[in-house]
Amino acid sequence: MERQGGCQCGAVRYKVSDEPLRVGLCHCTDCRQTSGSAFTMFAVWPRASFRSTSVVTTYRGRSFCPDCGSRLFSLRPDEAEIMVGSLDDAPSGLVPRYEIWVPRRESWLHGLPWADQHAGDRVDETETERDGINLE
Ligand SMILES: [Zn+2]
Ligand SMILES: [Zn+2]
Repeated sequence: MERQGGCQCGAVRYKVSDEPLRVGLCHCTDCRQTSGSAFTMFAVWPRASFRSTSVVTTYRGRSFCPDCGSRLFSLRPDEAEIMVGSLDDAPSGLVPRYEIWVPRRESWLHGLPWADQHAGDRVDETETERDGINLE
Protein backbone atom coordinates (compact mmCIF):
# COMPACT_ATOMS: atom_id res chain seq x y z
CA MET A 1 0.00 0.00 0.00
CA GLU A 2 1.35 3.39 -0.94
CA ARG A 3 -0.17 6.72 -0.01
CA GLN A 4 0.70 10.07 -1.52
CA GLY A 5 0.32 13.49 -0.07
CA GLY A 6 1.44 17.06 -0.30
CA CYS A 7 0.63 20.66 0.39
CA GLN A 8 -2.32 22.62 -0.90
CA CYS A 9 -0.41 24.45 -3.65
CA GLY A 10 1.35 21.33 -4.94
CA ALA A 11 4.96 22.51 -4.41
CA VAL A 12 5.59 19.76 -1.87
CA ARG A 13 4.86 16.10 -2.62
CA TYR A 14 5.65 12.94 -0.64
CA LYS A 15 4.88 9.22 -0.50
CA VAL A 16 4.61 6.73 2.32
CA SER A 17 4.55 2.98 1.79
CA ASP A 18 3.00 0.23 3.90
CA GLU A 19 0.82 0.84 6.91
CA PRO A 20 1.70 3.33 9.68
CA LEU A 21 3.23 2.12 12.93
CA ARG A 22 0.62 4.04 14.90
CA VAL A 23 -1.99 6.77 14.57
CA GLY A 24 -2.77 9.31 17.24
CA LEU A 25 -4.35 12.58 18.30
CA CYS A 26 -2.43 15.35 20.06
CA HIS A 27 -4.02 18.08 22.14
CA CYS A 28 -0.81 19.94 23.09
CA THR A 29 -0.34 23.68 22.83
CA ASP A 30 2.28 23.37 20.08
CA CYS A 31 -0.10 21.36 17.91
CA ARG A 32 -2.93 23.80 18.54
CA GLN A 33 -0.78 26.75 17.52
CA THR A 34 0.95 25.20 14.52
CA SER A 35 -2.23 23.67 13.10
CA GLY A 36 -4.44 26.65 13.82
CA SER A 37 -7.02 24.19 15.14
CA ALA A 38 -7.98 22.63 18.48
CA PHE A 39 -5.94 19.42 18.07
CA THR A 40 -4.04 17.42 15.48
CA MET A 41 -4.27 13.92 14.01
CA PHE A 42 -1.06 12.30 12.85
CA ALA A 43 0.30 8.93 11.78
CA VAL A 44 3.84 7.63 12.22
CA TRP A 45 5.66 5.57 9.60
CA PRO A 46 9.17 4.14 9.70
CA ARG A 47 11.50 6.75 8.24
CA ALA A 48 12.47 4.28 5.48
CA SER A 49 8.84 4.20 4.28
CA PHE A 50 8.85 7.93 3.58
CA ARG A 51 10.01 9.54 0.31
CA SER A 52 10.13 13.19 -0.71
CA THR A 53 12.49 15.33 -2.73
CA SER A 54 10.56 18.56 -2.24
CA VAL A 55 11.92 21.62 -0.49
CA VAL A 56 10.23 22.37 2.81
CA THR A 57 10.71 24.87 5.60
CA THR A 58 11.12 23.42 9.08
CA TYR A 59 10.49 25.17 12.37
CA ARG A 60 11.18 23.33 15.63
CA GLY A 61 11.08 20.01 13.81
CA ARG A 62 7.79 20.61 12.01
CA SER A 63 7.96 20.95 8.24
CA PHE A 64 5.60 22.97 6.09
CA CYS A 65 5.36 24.28 2.53
CA PRO A 66 7.36 27.51 2.14
CA ASP A 67 4.86 28.75 -0.44
CA CYS A 68 1.39 27.93 0.89
CA GLY A 69 2.16 27.15 4.55
CA SER A 70 0.43 23.76 4.71
CA ARG A 71 1.69 21.70 7.68
CA LEU A 72 3.06 18.39 6.39
CA PHE A 73 5.34 16.21 8.51
CA SER A 74 8.01 15.96 11.16
CA LEU A 75 11.01 13.84 10.18
CA ARG A 76 13.12 12.09 12.80
CA PRO A 77 16.08 9.80 12.12
CA ASP A 78 13.94 6.68 12.62
CA GLU A 79 10.39 7.85 11.98
CA ALA A 80 8.26 10.13 9.82
CA GLU A 81 5.26 11.67 11.55
CA ILE A 82 2.71 12.74 8.94
CA MET A 83 -0.10 15.21 9.45
CA VAL A 84 -2.78 12.98 7.95
CA GLY A 85 -4.75 15.90 6.51
CA SER A 86 -1.90 16.35 4.02
CA LEU A 87 -2.59 12.97 2.40
CA ASP A 88 -4.26 13.27 -1.01
CA ASP A 89 -7.13 11.01 0.03
CA ALA A 90 -9.11 11.65 3.20
CA PRO A 91 -7.53 9.54 5.95
CA SER A 92 -10.69 7.53 6.55
CA GLY A 93 -8.86 4.22 6.88
CA LEU A 94 -6.55 5.54 9.59
CA VAL A 95 -8.02 5.29 13.08
CA PRO A 96 -6.35 6.93 16.10
CA ARG A 97 -5.32 4.38 18.73
CA TYR A 98 -3.97 6.82 21.30
CA GLU A 99 -4.31 10.40 22.45
CA ILE A 100 -1.57 12.52 24.00
CA TRP A 101 -1.66 15.67 26.15
CA VAL A 102 -5.26 14.82 27.08
CA PRO A 103 -5.45 17.32 30.00
CA ARG A 104 -5.41 19.99 27.29
CA ARG A 105 -8.26 18.41 25.31
CA GLU A 106 -11.24 20.75 24.94
CA SER A 107 -13.99 19.92 27.44
CA TRP A 108 -16.63 19.44 24.71
CA LEU A 109 -14.46 16.85 22.97
CA HIS A 110 -14.65 13.36 24.43
CA GLY A 111 -11.79 10.90 24.43
CA LEU A 112 -12.00 8.03 21.99
CA PRO A 113 -13.21 5.09 24.09
CA TRP A 114 -10.85 2.59 22.41
CA ALA A 115 -7.77 4.83 22.46
CA ASP A 116 -4.96 4.84 25.03
CA GLN A 117 -4.92 8.12 26.92
CA HIS A 118 -1.65 9.80 27.84
CA ALA A 119 -1.27 12.91 30.02
CA GLY A 120 1.82 14.01 28.10
CA ASP A 121 3.89 12.55 25.32
CA ARG A 122 3.44 8.84 24.71
CA VAL A 123 6.20 6.91 26.42
CA ASP A 124 6.99 3.53 24.94
CA GLU A 125 8.06 1.33 27.81
CA THR A 126 10.08 -0.99 25.62
CA GLU A 127 12.04 1.86 24.06
CA THR A 128 12.78 5.40 25.04
CA GLU A 129 11.10 7.01 22.05
CA ARG A 130 8.56 9.74 22.53
CA ASP A 131 5.99 11.10 20.13
CA GLY A 132 5.48 14.72 19.49
CA ILE A 133 7.99 17.48 19.72
CA ASN A 134 7.00 19.51 22.73
CA LEU A 135 9.40 22.19 23.75
CA GLU A 136 7.27 23.75 26.44
ZN1 LIG B 1 2.38 24.50 -0.94
ZN1 LIG C 1 1.14 17.99 19.99
